[in-house]
Amino acid sequence: EQNSPKPPLKIMLAAPRGFCAGVDRAIQIVEQALDRFGSPVYVRHEIVHNKFVVDSLKAKGAIFVDELDEVPAGAHVVFSAHGVPKSVPADAENRGLSYFDATCPLVSKVHRQAERQVEAGRHIIFVGHRGHPEVIGTFGQVPQGAMTLVETVEDAENLQVPNSSNLAFLTQTTLSVDDTADIVAALQRRFPGIVGPKGEDICYATSNRQAAVKAIAGSCDMLFVIGAPNSSNSLRLVEVAERAGTISRLVQRAEDIDFAWLDGVKTLGITAGASAPEVLVRQFITHLATRFDVSEEQVVTAEESITFKLPRGLVAAADPV
Ligand code: SF4
Repeated sequence: EQNSPKPPLKIMLAAPRGFCAGVDRAIQIVEQALDRFGSPVYVRHEIVHNKFVVDSLKAKGAIFVDELDEVPAGAHVVFSAHGVPKSVPADAENRGLSYFDATCPLVSKVHRQAERQVEAGRHIIFVGHRGHPEVIGTFGQVPQGAMTLVETVEDAENLQVPNSSNLAFLTQTTLSVDDTADIVAALQRRFPGIVGPKGEDICYATSNRQAAVKAIAGSCDMLFVIGAPNSSNSLRLVEVAERAGTISRLVQRAEDIDFAWLDGVKTLGITAGASAPEVLVRQFITHLATRFDVSEEQVVTAEESITFKLPRGLVAAADPV
């Protein structure tokens, strides 16, 4: 029946959600480089893990490449927010490329800690997800063999190390707060002398977004996480909701929704990963409103005011001469 009233749907919006300071800075670096030097500006890897962001930068003249050998001599290149092994800027210098490093300062902080631990003669246990660009970048800060990857409590329990009395641990920035606490506890139980950061290296944005989902998941029949399947922090948000007993789905765009998923759903939670722009959240809700009579409630569990400065070279280059 065409004129039947739309069923009500209450939307609970988690806050904070979406862009973090590191993602915001990385996108600004590409935009500023395009403004200053014109198109094309090359970007090594997805600047952040979001297709919408990548496509909009492509439309402005950014060219995304996997490796530096795809960048022509004399061009400008930006490294992604996840960080790069030391060999990447070294290669860029050898090739005479002018580069801007969009590595999030909170990832760079872990890089520096890794160097310091190796200088202090310690072997590093790194808690992270195999194959993620941040993990590859952090491993690339230290000589081969200086760091061992641990992904689970089981890995931590079975770990064999060269010298158990001289160990340090570090972590990826976008892990599950709860899982990481268990892994770190296992490491500390097995190796009581292990040194590490206070808690772990999970960033403020990752922990705030997880806490916000925890706060609303129990009141929602279902929770959508807007984010990309290769976005670590987005995948963790799905897990947090599921552990609270709430069905959760990772969705990239409004068109991905199958309205059948929402049969019987009265209250829908929505959050967005750190690399997903707010415009996607709005499109999502607009799309839901075509089928439901939506009402929105935002639940704020933390205020975020952190911002990061742009790299010196880019700011100086952008100044009037
Ligand atoms: Fe930086 Fe955290 Fe954002 Fe990653 S998720 S870019 S570490 S602030």
